[in-house]
Amino acid sequence: MAIDLKLYNSLSNKKEVFRPLQKGSASVYTCGPTVYDRAHLGNFRSYIFSDILIRALHFNGFTTKHIINITDVGHLTDDADQGEDKLERRAKKDNKKAQDISKEYTDFFIEDSKKLNLLPPNKYPRATDHIDEQIVMIQKLEGAGFTYKTSNGIYFDTSKLKDYGKLANLNLESLKEGARVEKNLEKKNPTDFALWKFSKKEENRHMEWDSPWGTGFPGWHIECSAMSKKYLGFPFDIHTGGIDHKPVHHTNEIAQNEALVGRETVNYWLHNGFMTIDEERMAKSLGNMFTVRDLEDRGTTPIAFRYFMLGAHYRSPINFTWQALKGAEQAYTNLILEIRRLTAQVHTGTVFDQIKNFFITTPPKPDWKKRFTLAINDDLNTPAALAVLWDTLKDKDLTPKEKLSLLITYDTIFGLNLKEETRPVSVPSSIKELVKKREEFRNDGNWNGADHLRDEINEKGFIVEDGEKGPIVFKSL
Ligand code: AMP
Ligand code: ZN
Repeated sequence: MAIDLKLYNSLSNKKEVFRPLQKGSASVYTCGPTVYDRAHLGNFRSYIFSDILIRALHFNGFTTKHIINITDVGHLTDDADQGEDKLERRAKKDNKKAQDISKEYTDFFIEDSKKLNLLPPNKYPRATDHIDEQIVMIQKLEGAGFTYKTSNGIYFDTSKLKDYGKLANLNLESLKEGARVEKNLEKKNPTDFALWKFSKKEENRHMEWDSPWGTGFPGWHIECSAMSKKYLGFPFDIHTGGIDHKPVHHTNEIAQNEALVGRETVNYWLHNGFMTIDEERMAKSLGNMFTVRDLEDRGTTPIAFRYFMLGAHYRSPINFTWQALKGAEQAYTNLILEIRRLTAQVHTGTVFDQIKNFFITTPPKPDWKKRFTLAINDDLNTPAALAVLWDTLKDKDLTPKEKLSLLITYDTIFGLNLKEETRPVSVPSSIKELVKKREEFRNDGNWNGADHLRDEINEKGFIVEDGEKGPIVFKSL
């Protein structure tokens, strides 16, 4: 029986079987980075999660169309409609053009994504390349009576939608604007949000456009509505983002979309939990962030960080500490060494493998691929899937070849470059000589001499172990 892929839908607050709109394919939109700084490790939690989702869809036989937008205008410092445009502020601080800031940090984002082995999406559309689409959408909302004008922009009237706030179960009665930010007294309702903001002369903005309402720039939420509609069409299958997007950004995307087309436009809303640091959310604005570059500066590979992320379910919070990361890195190192050991066995032990295969018909082996699929298809349960990986390695009834083949299958989801480790490594003749000599010492009972040679082999970057059929030699890390 097929094992259905189940995903936790924030709209229904339960796990649902994934049923695509079009048989065999899935359309996925991921809220992308605001490119005024390097994406931090918490941001990348969001993209590792959407990457696992895409890989799980492929694993289940779906083709995907995946869009990650680049927010390069309109995201204000307080996430609502007050404060400064994050891109403009950074540009002024660095004495650069906003467009250059955007390019610089988009390039970093894509570079870091590659290092983390994230599958590239079909497109990274930029908000500033879609101003016309956003203006047309706002005009349509205006035509349908959902907008009003204030002195600083065009706003969406959230009271016009009967189920505004359904995604986050917002209690509209008790909602008040944050005490820290200046209230916008012209808003009709606290939850109303800007669709278009007028440029202020004194701002000297680098990015502004003419519009039917005056020179200005789009609000933050309209870009995702416009670009998801353009590239995926309404309705589409899955929308992802961090949990912080539920009450504001995604709630407002839903409001815009549904006001526009009169029905639901996204079937599954998926949200990742926060990465915290000292129990506080990791955030650019809080100044407690680490980036992929920090990992590298401290000698940790981005892939080891990816392994660390797989150890927590995407919806659970995960606390970042260098110590926890080191623990995960050690486990990842052990995994790589085990694969190298198995690979060495495969390339020296074919006879043994055949004998094992011959006797292996009974008793039946656990169906490892099924166990793995059950874990992944249960709302992308990567910690459970990792446990399956380690149990597979412990299974004495599996041949090295069978283990490696299962690991390569698992890695289509994990994305840890495990296949690269299964290529046979040629052992230099100088090492082979030492191994041979060590065998002779062992046969003569010269254990001291044998230990000495093992250390020498180690120093030269190889590990020698005594297998059932003789020495196993593989590269150390
Ligand atoms: P931003 O660049 O601020 O627009 O955020 C990009 C993505 O990262 C969004 O999906 C956020 O929800 C997500 N995000 C931001 N901070 C964190 C965090 N500490 N942990 C997990 N996801 C986060
Ligand atoms: Zn978005």
